[in-house]
Amino acid sequence: MTAPATHGPLIVVAGPSGVGKSTLVEALLKSTDLPLRRAVTATTRPPRPGEAAGVDYHYWTADEFRAAIDAGAMLEYAVVHGSDFYGTPRREVEPHRAAGGAVVLVIDVQGAENVRRLDPGGHLSVFVLPPCEAALEARLRGRGSEDEAKVQRRLQTARAELARAGEFDARIVNDDLSEAVAALEAVVRGEMTRRLTPR
Ligand code: ADP
Ligand code: 5GP
Repeated sequence: MTAPATHGPLIVVAGPSGVGKSTLVEALLKSTDLPLRRAVTATTRPPRPGEAAGVDYHYWTADEFRAAIDAGAMLEYAVVHGSDFYGTPRREVEPHRAAGGAVVLVIDVQGAENVRRLDPGGHLSVFVLPPCEAALEARLRGRGSEDEAKVQRRLQTARAELARAGEFDARIVNDDLSEAVAALEAVVRGEMTRRLTPR
């Protein structure tokens, strides 16, 4: 019999930019009674209107980001959309898992691959899909945070990412938001139960 896991689960939520990952995870955090926390990741891109430092991201300069990499303080990092650094500071994940809580990491597909390489078997990965490509495009434009060139670049990245949905442990279509929230909660609850059940 394996000893019950003392660490809480790490749930990696990935999928194309604009599919609704942040919306989905924020809605789950508001509605769930599970001991769940979102890891706040770091980026070198500037904050969008309405975003707050330490809430949506830690906004770092490229020099600050490089220093964190050199100090071994990042769980993973990637250059996303060919320009900005994005990454997960270890201190956003490890203390909470050690205290038995679940940590959700909202990340891009490269980041999910990095975590898979660094932490094989130690986490559960979820891919969020749009109901169709037109819906993804509408969401990207509707968010109004990127210019046309950036929307086109994100759609191009999305096509390559969508082809990799099969590499993930679970897939959730974000069509009706409340159904997608319920599906994600079921995945997290199942993983917490599995980790706490001696086998
Ligand atoms: P991501 O974190 O994947 O980049 P966001 O959470 O920023 O995506 O969502 C992108 C846009 O899509 C936002 O304007 C958000 O309000 C919208 N959105 C998210 N989920 C849904 C949904 N289920 N139906 C319609 N619009 C949605
Ligand atoms: P956005 O600029 O739209 O907020 O995010 C761009 C992409 O970077 C999204 O797919 C987002 O999930 C991803 N991302 C956010 N944080 C991280 C991170 O810590 N590491 C990696 N690899 N990707 C991230």
